[in-house]
Amino acid sequence: MPRTVITGGAGFIGSHLCDHFLAAGHEVLCIDNLLTGSRDNVAHLEGRPGFRFVLHDVTQFIEVEGPVDNVLHFASPASPADFERLPIQILKVGAHGTHNALGLAKAKRARFLLASTSEVYGDPEVNPQPETYLGRVNPIGIRGVYDEAKRFAEAITMAYRRVHKLETRIVRIFNTFGERMQLDDGRALPNFATQALRGEPLTIYGDGSQTRSFGYVADLVDGLDRLLHSDVWEPVNIGNPEEVTLLEVAREVLELTGSKSELVYRPLPPGDPKVRRPDITRARDLLGWAPRVSRRAGFERTIADFRRRLEAIG
Ligand code: UDP
Repeated sequence: MPRTVITGGAGFIGSHLCDHFLAAGHEVLCIDNLLTGSRDNVAHLEGRPGFRFVLHDVTQFIEVEGPVDNVLHFASPASPADFERLPIQILKVGAHGTHNALGLAKAKRARFLLASTSEVYGDPEVNPQPETYLGRVNPIGIRGVYDEAKRFAEAITMAYRRVHKLETRIVRIFNTFGERMQLDDGRALPNFATQALRGEPLTIYGDGSQTRSFGYVADLVDGLDRLLHSDVWEPVNIGNPEEVTLLEVAREVLELTGSKSELVYRPLPPGDPKVRRPDITRARDLLGWAPRVSRRAGFERTIADFRRRLEAIG
């Protein structure tokens, strides 16, 4: 039975990884300090054979007894709202947290998978973004704390690969959505879904003409599984290449919720990328991966989950 450590395992993506690898027969150690993750995300796994939750901040030394086969490093706040709320924690988990997670993988001779991000491309001058694009990041901007933390994380991962001959994998995750995103996460879809279901106005930042490409979490998990089990050490984009304006996203959410909420316009946060779309040629060619769930089908499932949770809190 492979033993897999998932840092940030109680977060949105981390908890779906816990589900996936447990179902695949791994023993899963879910490590999380619950800064942005939640025990609710893994409550259904507690007591299940092979699953263990460890409350720990990975910016501190990570102690794990026994053998480890895989370290999946997913711990980090990741919403742009967190870039203002938790800038120092983001830099620390990207730097010290990644260093500790790599140290654990090195000590156990485990395979290491880094959750990187499309934010390493910054506000891009090329669209779509291939992995060979080196990015346009402002280190002193509000988003710099996340972008630079993840760029550092990629650099130290490559250093461990070169110096310690560690087996490493790097995924650059594009906008991903699905069940268990925090209701108050602050990202576009959680905001729009919560606002629409509560009958509150949907907040469009800027004029809503900026684009993103939204991928459903189950497709991401499939791509991550393929990447982990491949021999591809170069960074791989995983995301849905279907690009859409934020205004269209707001209208789709209104339609799917049946909400009569109006749209209100708010200032565009500084450094907000104008376009974002993954070039997934590498994932297609090297992993045989492509997204299977349409944005609409994914939105329907996610909105149903948001509706349930909002009703539960009244
Ligand atoms: N956005 C918006 N309204 C919101 C939240 C976000 O219009 O209530 C916009 C935001 O300015 C950005 C896009 O939606 O252009 C996606 O934002 P998100 O926070 O989801 O993540 P990002 O892709 O910027 O990292």
